[in-house]
Amino acid sequence: MSLREELLAQEYDERTKPRGFVYFTDADGQVVAKTCRKCGELKHAKNYHHKSDGFGQLGPYCKTCVSDRDREYYDKNRERLKRVKYAYYRRKRAEQLSLNLFDDNE
Ligand SMILES: [Zn+2]
Repeated sequence: MSLREELLAQEYDERTKPRGFVYFTDADGQVVAKTCRKCGELKHAKNYHHKSDGFGQLGPYCKTCVSDRDREYYDKNRERLKRVKYAYYRRKRAEQLSLNLFDDNE
């Protein structure tokens, strides 16, 4: 049974919005499931991070898409992040050496 069938069986209200966006609400109007803006899959509210100003107080992307995006960001910026770290290391190292040099001259 798909999540949609399950939600319908539990008598949640199915609502649709333009561009294939679907969501389900309970009797209190609370969003119990909605379509992820990225992968387009209908997912239960527990698969979304909380976002107070989001639709149904949920983030627009499911947790899977959020972690995929974070990993992609890291992969894309891996070289740059490495360079930043290395530059910091070099600067600290140079500082350390110049201090030692100064100590030796005393
Ligand atoms: Zn998703």
